[in-house]
Amino acid sequence: MFKKHAMNQKRVVIVGGGFAGMSCADKLVNGKGNGNVHVTLIDKNNYHEFTPLLYQVATSALSSGDVATSFRHYFAGKSNIDIKMAHAISVDPKTQIVKTEEGESYQGDYLVLAAGSTVNFFDTIGAAQYSFPLYSLVDAERLRSRILAVFEDADRRPRLIEKGALNFVVVGAGPTGTETAGAISDMLNVALPKEFSDLALKKARVFLVDHSHTVLGAFSKNSQEYAIKALKKRGVRLKLGLLVKEVALDHVLLSNGEKILTRTIIWAGGLKAVPLANNCGLPQEHGGRISIQPDLTAEGFPNLYVIGDLAAGGKPLPQLAAVAKQSGEWAARNILAQMGGKPRTPFKYNDKGIMAMIGRNAAVAEIGKKRRELKGIIAYLAWLGVHAALLSTVRQKVEAFIEWAWGYFSHTQALQILDRADAARIKWDDEAKEK
Ligand SMILES: Cc1cc2nc3c(=O)[nH]c(=O)nc-3n(C[C@H](O)[C@H](O)[C@H](O)COP(=O)(O)OP(=O)(O)OC[C@H]3O[C@@H](n4cnc5c(N)ncnc54)[C@H](O)[C@@H]3O)c2cc1C
Repeated sequence: MFKKHAMNQKRVVIVGGGFAGMSCADKLVNGKGNGNVHVTLIDKNNYHEFTPLLYQVATSALSSGDVATSFRHYFAGKSNIDIKMAHAISVDPKTQIVKTEEGESYQGDYLVLAAGSTVNFFDTIGAAQYSFPLYSLVDAERLRSRILAVFEDADRRPRLIEKGALNFVVVGAGPTGTETAGAISDMLNVALPKEFSDLALKKARVFLVDHSHTVLGAFSKNSQEYAIKALKKRGVRLKLGLLVKEVALDHVLLSNGEKILTRTIIWAGGLKAVPLANNCGLPQEHGGRISIQPDLTAEGFPNLYVIGDLAAGGKPLPQLAAVAKQSGEWAARNILAQMGGKPRTPFKYNDKGIMAMIGRNAAVAEIGKKRRELKGIIAYLAWLGVHAALLSTVRQKVEAFIEWAWGYFSHTQALQILDRADAARIKWDDEAKEK
């Protein structure tokens, strides 16, 4: 099951190759002292996904290959890592064995759990069945197909607009929801008018719903006000201070009784730990996240680390890529320290700030611990630069810049690939008859 490794090498099994797992593996495989370590990286996919740019795949600004990196390609030529594409279903912290759905078991001298989080529908009626979550590459591709399908359907049958074909409802006004609402509006205002000359795009509506009375909750009041103004300028209809009570096949019902007809409900409304967290025999906290000690290990299990979105404990840290990445590097550092007979140290997060894109020429950024505020085109350029720099490979960085520049100057979103037939097929008439 494992590649042959030297007798004195310690085996580290990492579950999850997101920001946390990848940075941990990277440091162990490529860092100092790597001759003593053999890593097995288990992920249910064969690629790492760059979640901050998923909404751009969903809105045809970037392609899947721009935001997903093959693990095997990334670690090609490294003899001290095995990649296993498998779905972990349980972890025994005492024996340090990970079991997979495919029937294999993996045991490590050290275990690192980095399986992240998944969508939380908060038991909202119909949300799991009828909404489009945006948490993975598959989600982004399905959503892209649905967005493109409603335009195609409404172009053939304009009366579908009255049935809400061109209404887009985004649930959750955090960065993902805000960025998605802004990007769909930009599609409607900038790219599509040239392509759908017969379609009444002016009748399209983008709604952004949140139970809070503002958008971008983690940002300053200034940034929030700027974002609200920029969204309204793009025509986004804000439904703030409201809950989604029910999601149905053809509409969304809000807590004030308002019903919005739509076939595209985008769920960016919450996170919880992945189901694996419930099968590890470890104490859990808010959202099912696993409790950890300041040094990122689980209490009573000094060789078992939990990092990234899956972990909670002590001073709560935001569920951000930067936190996950840094915690992965820190876990690797602690493992190497343990192997060298040195003590583990408590994780310290180096907060470099937060940023969110609203749309063309409009973004907000709060830089560093002091939260120096930037907005407008400067924040927009900073956002593009930072996100391109964070992509995993040089090819992706170059391609993302080409796509962005091409789209920006040509006013197009060329990657309109309707490739997920399951999400695109809408049985408008059959379903109407059923009612
Ligand atoms: C749409 C979206 C946009 C975001 N935008 C931003 C942003 O702009 N800036 C920011 O800082 N943060 C952003 N975040 C948050 C950020 O993505 C997370 O905080 C970060 O990904 C957490 O990293 P992680 O490694 O803990 O988990 P993840 O990145 O979720 O990685 C978990 C990995 O584990 C794998 N996995 C899960 N379960 C199993 C299993 N049972 N068996 C095997 N493998 C498994 C998954 O395939 C995945 O590769 C965004 C998140 C989303 C969903």
